[in-house]
Amino acid sequence: KRRMTLVKKEPTLNLTPNALVVLRKRYLKKNDKSEPIETPEELFWRVAKAIAKGDASYEGAERIEETSYKFYRLMASLDFIPNSPTLMNAGRRLGQLAACFVLPVEDSIDSIFEAIKHAAMIHKSGGGTGFSFSRLRPENDKVLSTQGIASGPVSFMTVFDSATETVKQGGTRRGANMGILRVDHPDIEKFITCKTDNDRMTNFNISVAVTDSFMEAVERDMDYDLINPRTREPSGRISARKIFDQIVNAAWKNGEPGIVFIDAMNRFNPTPHVGMIESTNPCGEQPLLPYESCNLGSINLSHMVRDGKIDFAYLREVVWDAVHFLDNVIEVNKYPLPKIQELTKANRKIGLGVMGFADMLIGLGISYNSEEAVQTAEEVMAFIQKESKAASAHLGETRGNFPNYKGSAYDRPDTPFMRNATTTTVAPTGTISIIGSCSSGIEPLFAISFVRKVLDNEELLEVHPLFQKVAKERGFYSEELMKRIAERGSIKDFMEIPEDVRRVFVVSHDVSPEWHIRIQAAFQKHTDNAVSKTINFPFAATVEDVATAYLKAFQLGCKGLTIYRDGSRDLQVLNIQRKP
Ligand code: ADP
Repeated sequence: KRRMTLVKKEPTLNLTPNALVVLRKRYLKKNDKSEPIETPEELFWRVAKAIAKGDASYEGAERIEETSYKFYRLMASLDFIPNSPTLMNAGRRLGQLAACFVLPVEDSIDSIFEAIKHAAMIHKSGGGTGFSFSRLRPENDKVLSTQGIASGPVSFMTVFDSATETVKQGGTRRGANMGILRVDHPDIEKFITCKTDNDRMTNFNISVAVTDSFMEAVERDMDYDLINPRTREPSGRISARKIFDQIVNAAWKNGEPGIVFIDAMNRFNPTPHVGMIESTNPCGEQPLLPYESCNLGSINLSHMVRDGKIDFAYLREVVWDAVHFLDNVIEVNKYPLPKIQELTKANRKIGLGVMGFADMLIGLGISYNSEEAVQTAEEVMAFIQKESKAASAHLGETRGNFPNYKGSAYDRPDTPFMRNATTTTVAPTGTISIIGSCSSGIEPLFAISFVRKVLDNEELLEVHPLFQKVAKERGFYSEELMKRIAERGSIKDFMEIPEDVRRVFVVSHDVSPEWHIRIQAAFQKHTDNAVSKTINFPFAATVEDVATAYLKAFQLGCKGLTIYRDGSRDLQVLNIQRKP
């Protein structure tokens, strides 16, 4: 009887054609002929039931059923979507649910190849891996046992890259890696340019770990020491500006390397007594200790607007349910390695974030590039941070604190309970935002209408749904106009569109790098982990513009920065047709 009433209240699934394509292609369970054997509803039930089982040690069977329903509604409403591995693998044999891993690489052949093996196992299960190569001795350094010379970090990275290339992820996704090198490693120059030829290291994002003292040396135009990690002795001195310029030049050319502010990451490391942070996951939003993993999930902010205002009461409910969900993921996850299981369960990091921020701003009538947007970013993320901490404290009180609580940053009289060492992370939401049909992460809209290249060069004209609605309501909609907009991407010069509409529907290229960074910094201020964001530059941007952005990000307390200059790489998934 109870079940009947529950079923009646189920939300109807409102999936767009794109969402269906993505779900069919990658997420739905398939038979050996590659035909889907579950519906999207069944997928969300599969995930909801599997994750609800995480209650088992704490609640009776009765509550588990209630929790399954709660989790189903959370996802099927598209208010919250967990990271891809959870959708793909929950309730299935693989059962690996986390997107983010960091593995240690020590300065020995044994450790290097062990890391490659572990990465392969993680990639197979849909996770992404990050590594710091900073402990590897530099190229041409001594190899004592063979009297030979060392190959250096960059050379070994190509082995990781090939291994990743070879391990295709069983038809789900191919592996992704983050490679990090400290700015004071003797091979830093080689590392900075290792992706300048676009055909190398295609399975790596690379970032330079810059220190506060390096940034100071840049500001004061000083030299700094390069340190050989094997001997821990300085092996030379180099101009900080020279290295900074090389980073900026390479990033200007094709978007890489990014930078991570490694000291800022460690200042906010909640468990310094357990270890130091040396790397992040592939997209940079999740700093982790070696052998740590984290599962992510994102709230669809475009659903949190009612009558032109943020519905904070509703958002609070979603945050509490999402924290419960993500904490349960840690319980039921099947970890790829015992060591990863041990550390992940000892810190219990979760990464609750957002997507659909740009859509939310449109719903609120706020332009992305404005003070109001920065304030809104702060307000909404501060709220999510506060509520996620309250939800985690509640779980800590009822289920127990994370085992490394003692000696952690929370080990204070005012935070006696905390279930999770971190609660918030802003992920890119590359695919889950397609499922939720909202703007990705905290990025501005990419285009108002655009041509999407789908499988095998087929092209589809897509108009942003909110724009389409407004255009129809206000009587300026036409196919012809939408096509012309697709050619430009931006509507800023379309005088036939009312001014107030043009002001709110801004796209990435209407937004100056400064505003991009300020939005990132606003989210970072209230996020435990890091924030994934691409700072977009127009093709005509100069190397100095990029340098200014890096300095600005440092000053504003960002934990890293990724830039992209439009058109600097050939291959783009979303293609704005440009007039010649
Ligand atoms: P999704 O939308 O699929 O859940 P995101 O785009 O938000 O994923 O990325 C979140 C994290 O998931 C990344 O930082 C990375 O750790 C992992 N990830 C993303 N794409 C891949 C991939 N192709 N292979 C392995 N891991 C990935």
